[in-house]
Amino acid sequence: MQRSLDDIAAIATPPGQGGIGVVRVSGSDLSRLTTVLIGKVPIARHATYSTFLDSDGQVIDRGIAIFFPGPNSYTGEDVLELQAHGGSAVLQLLLKRCLSVGARTAQPGEFTLRAFLNNKLDLVQAESVADLISATSEQAVRSANRSLQGGFSKSINSLVDELIALRILIEATIDFPEEELDLSDFKRIEDTHKVILHRLEQTFKLAKQGSLLREGAHIVLVGQPNVGKSSLLNCLAGEDIALVSEIAGTTRDIVRQSISINGVPLHLIDTAGLRESGDIVEKMGMERTKLAMQKADLVVVIMETSNENPQEHSAIINLIPKHIPKLYVINKIDLYEQKPRIELHKEQLYIYLSAKRETGIDLLRGKILEMIEWREESGVFMARERHLLALEQALQYIKGAASLLNSLELLAEELRLAQEALSKITGEFSSDDLLGEIFSHFCIGK
Ligand code: GDP
Repeated sequence: MQRSLDDIAAIATPPGQGGIGVVRVSGSDLSRLTTVLIGKVPIARHATYSTFLDSDGQVIDRGIAIFFPGPNSYTGEDVLELQAHGGSAVLQLLLKRCLSVGARTAQPGEFTLRAFLNNKLDLVQAESVADLISATSEQAVRSANRSLQGGFSKSINSLVDELIALRILIEATIDFPEEELDLSDFKRIEDTHKVILHRLEQTFKLAKQGSLLREGAHIVLVGQPNVGKSSLLNCLAGEDIALVSEIAGTTRDIVRQSISINGVPLHLIDTAGLRESGDIVEKMGMERTKLAMQKADLVVVIMETSNENPQEHSAIINLIPKHIPKLYVINKIDLYEQKPRIELHKEQLYIYLSAKRETGIDLLRGKILEMIEWREESGVFMARERHLLALEQALQYIKGAASLLNSLELLAEELRLAQEALSKITGEFSSDDLLGEIFSHFCIGK
């Protein structure tokens, strides 16, 4: 996408019927367009009851026009918002009228892209607009808002400022003749480096939590047929999604369901019972199970209390990649009148519960959150994979710098690279490709 001075217009409210629908226009000078459309330029930022006219003078609708002259607007340009009745035909006619007087249809995210290009928002804030719109839980809304208000950007910017200050200090030290150097200069460099490292680690932790809120975690349920995988999935999801039956092997393929626990999205995958079978459909299901396990954040191994075939169990457990965390669930405790509980055997957690009676489910929910490393921390801000990658990169440079305290030129270079990685987050060094990628995922009209 290129910087452009075209007037752009779009319906900003979702398709379908509603009380109100909004058509939004942005451009460097909308006074002509506004006059043609509603007969005048309304007072800035006032709700003005207006008649929206078609080219032949016919009334399309009557509603509210709000004019935000640039630069005090969302995009930094002139913005006109037309609030009409929320029907798709009315809004389409209104949009068509805007296009007939010179605007073109906005691309997805183009209003926000202009806000970014006009320095109204940095890249993290622009991304959080999309995250706020797609948030599905209270926590996601709060953390997206924290990013939108500049919480994340502020952390990044102050880290960048500290890195710059440290680089200046190092450069000044390098320029000094060696004999005039004071040990306290080195100490100051070392201490500041430590402070930056600590703050970067804290920021990374918060961003990781935010990323979990945005992306969710992938959890695979495995176990022999009939141990109650589907029942447990239904229990966690709170509705009947997977097929529950007494015939072993009912879940022949993968059933996916996204739920949320404490606002954290979890993508649960109920897999085909892992057992050797001649059935081709079941075999394909098993292959997918193995694939799903490789990408999982957590595998929940479900067993029955009365399990009589430990060999089959170890066969299942051996299929789980070693680096993936595992949690064992002993289901059907109601059959043995046992109480729900958590036990630790050989450094492995076992949760005893009953999917059918829905007892012990909260224990499982809590442990799942713990094992995917979710912590109820305040100040979490919405973060994306690209932010985590940049933070990780910066962390590597800063950690690497620790061993270079005796060679200031190299140290300065590592710090410069760390600064560059961090600046990518807020968009100081963003390629057009990256901007295109980010804004193309927005909805039209935003
Ligand atoms: P899957 O093949 O592992 O997905 O197992 P299902 O969820 O289809 O359950 C198999 C059978 O076990 C069904 O008849 C369930 O009603 C039953 N079942 C599941 N969980 C429990 C439980 O906690 N207690 C008892 N008594 N039966 C259960």
